[in-house]
Parts: sequence; C-alpha cells; structure tokens
Amino acid sequence: METVDKVDMIKNHGLTASENLEKFLKRIEAKNDDINAFLEVRGEEAIKRAEEIDARIASGKETGKLAGLVIGVKSNINVEDFNVSAASKTLENYTGSYDATVIRRIKEEDGIIIGMTNMDEFAAGSSTETSFFGPTDNPAAPGRIPGGSSGGSAAAVAAGMCDLALGSDTGGSIRNPASHCGVMGFKPTYGAVSRQGLLDLAMSFDQIGPLAADVSGISLALDVISGYDPADPTTLDSSPDLEVERELKGLRVGVVREFLEVTDEAIDEVIQGKLGAMEDEGAEIVELEFGYIDLCLPTYYLINYVEFFSATRKYDGRKYGHRIEDVCGPEVLRRIHMGSYISQKELSGKYYKRALQARSLIRREITGLLSNVDMIAGPTVPKLPHTLGEELEPMEMYAYDVLTVIANLAGIPAASIPAGDVGGVPVGLQLQAKPGDDGMILSAMREIASL
Ligand code: GLN
Repeated sequence: METVDKVDMIKNHGLTASENLEKFLKRIEAKNDDINAFLEVRGEEAIKRAEEIDARIASGKETGKLAGLVIGVKSNINVEDFNVSAASKTLENYTGSYDATVIRRIKEEDGIIIGMTNMDEFAAGSSTETSFFGPTDNPAAPGRIPGGSSGGSAAAVAAGMCDLALGSDTGGSIRNPASHCGVMGFKPTYGAVSRQGLLDLAMSFDQIGPLAADVSGISLALDVISGYDPADPTTLDSSPDLEVERELKGLRVGVVREFLEVTDEAIDEVIQGKLGAMEDEGAEIVELEFGYIDLCLPTYYLINYVEFFSATRKYDGRKYGHRIEDVCGPEVLRRIHMGSYISQKELSGKYYKRALQARSLIRREITGLLSNVDMIAGPTVPKLPHTLGEELEPMEMYAYDVLTVIANLAGIPAASIPAGDVGGVPVGLQLQAKPGDDGMILSAMREIASL
C-alpha cells in the first residue's frame, strides 16, 4: 500500500520521534489556549514513549507502522488513564480504565497518544459549541466554528498540533469538521472499525475514523484501526481492501442533483470546479437523482434520539459521575426528552417504526444509485460555518447534516477532502461509495489531492 512508513517519514523530515513530538508539544503550548482543540495533553508520558521508540530505532529493532506518529483522540473514546469526558459535566472526572480496541491497535503500532480533543457534549452537535469546556476555534477560519462534533480533532490537525486525530461519526461528525477546517476525514463502512470503547451516541450509526492533513495519514490510520474485533459483534469478518488503485480516467462519478440544490451557491461553485477538474482527468460524470432528501434529517434525528436516550440510561449518577439530566446542556437534554417520549410503547408505531422504514428506503435508494457508479461526489456540508457565538435554532444546526447523515443511515463509507474555499473559508468535497469500497474512496482521494 502506498502509505508512508513513519520511520521513513520521520527520517525524511530529518526528525526523531522525540523531535517530532517536541514540535507538536510546542505548537500546542503556543496555540491551544486560543484554539481549545485539546482538553487534555499528557506530554510527559508521550515524551517517554517517543524516547523509547527512538531507542528501538537506534538499536535497529523493529517498530510499528505508526512509530513516532503523534495522535489526538476525541474525548469519547476510551484511553487508559486519560480523561474520557465526552466534553460533558456528567463525565467531567471520568478516567478511562482501559484502551478502546482502536487505541490498543494504535499503541501496538507505536503511535503516540498525546491527548484528548474537544467535541460537542456526547457528540450531539455540529459545531463543538456545546462542549462543557467551551467551544473550539477554527484554525483555518478564525472566529468561526470548526464544525462538529469532532471539532477539536479537526482543529488539532488543521493547527498542526498532531499528525493524526481520531473522531467519531454518527451523522457527519468526522466529515463536517474536516470540511470546515480544510483537512481530510474518513467515515469507514459500518462495521469496518471496532466501536468497542467508544461512548455511544447512536450505536447503529456510530463509526470511529481518522482525520489528517494528507491521504497517506488517513490510509495509514485506517489500515491500523480497521478489522474484525471479537469484542465488537458488529464488526465485519473481513476488513475492506484498502489497496485499491484506480485512476480518475474511466471512473464513474455520480453527481446527485438534489445534493447541489440544498447547498449554498458559492459552495456549489467550488464543488463544480473540483468535479470539472476530475472530468478533465477522464472521470465520467453521471447525473443522478435522489428522491428522499427531505426524509433524511427527520429519519436520522428520530433514530438518534431513541438510541441516545437508551445509551444515556447508565449515566444515572451511581457508577459514572453525575446524573446526566441534572448537569447536561440543552441539546443533550432535548435528545433525552425526545427519545424518552418517542420510546413510549404506544408511540413507537407512530415514530420509531416509521423512521426505521424510512431508513430502509433511504438505504435502498442510495445503494441503488451507487450500483451504477463507482462513487458519488458532492458537497460535504451545504453551508459555511457560522461565527462562534451566533445563536442557531436546533433545526438550523441540524441543517448542516443533511448531506452527511445519508452515509450513516445506509452504513456506507464516506470521506471529505478539501475542495477549495469561499472567501478563505474551506469547503470539502464528499465522496461516498458502496459498503466495503473504502479503498476506492481512498484511491480517489489520492488522485484528487494531486489535482
Ligand atoms: N450533528 C449530528 C448530530 O448532532 C451528527 C453528530 C455526530 O456525527 N456525532 O447528531
């Protein structure tokens, strides 16, 4: 696979693992007070790890695929001895007692976990403004939201505070902040990456995935974290083939009319420009129609409320910190109340069962469209990130997600790659493909990044 061997990468930059880490620690020290990308940084442990890796390299011993790479982790993924707060007051003082499977795999490959990143409280949001620890600024467009809910991870990568970051994506939370911060983000096929150790938002949608500044970082991280996990029965038996190599020439790229129609014009123009450049390289653009765009947000949010309500019942103040209803923010409370209401037996036929039916329709429609093309390309987010502190109605906030929730409803892989900007504000191109075609997306990202 065309991933960068980190040992070589460090050598190419003339850096040891310790020097690489040092560079990031300095940047965090200089910038994190303003950006608030990291909620917790454990420099001393990281320095020890880096020294140990350097010693192994110096003595000619074998090192893992991530040797010396510095990694930020979203605060809803369990890392032993780190503060796994989900940016909430509920879990303010909760310390991870074990490593999530993805973290164990990263450590086995000698990745260095540097700290925990900011996010929307319990990952319920699209702006990282609902964090109990305050919002994150967007390093690529200062004064604007970084997107969310993995806004801290995207900002950390965009500000050059780490090589890679992990996020979680339930309805767009990796792709949305990647788009707003001008970096890359990848939501794998549902089941390709273990969720063991992830605090659920909505478990039938949630996937862990990487954010990075370049495609080699994304593919290296995916290679390490994906694969069957006996501890997560929803993982797939076989990992997606990540070694696909396809030129843009002859690639059939679907463009869905309705995706462009719901998107701001200035963003559409950037996307059209990128699609045009792909066409110039020989990609074949196929126009498609998607009949259920209006169903996507209601379907996603109904299911999200129900699953989130059930996932939060364990935060009753006995085992973990505070009782969630006593200390959470308004968005989390809204979801708990709505989820509790919809979950009432007598109402489930009216809401939840219908949402599941709508989910099947959406899944069938999008996979049907994908059966005629290699992938679908379009905008990641239909509007630009708002100014920090601007008050949005819940529906306005949800509107950010209309183009990203589809991949979670259908379980398909999807990524965001920088496409350009509108007045300096980054805009991402979203690529979506059939389940298991994660490698196809990676291959297209490599081609698009070099256009
Ligand atoms: N913004 C969406 C929501 O609030 C998606 C969040 C996510 O992907 N974690 O549910």
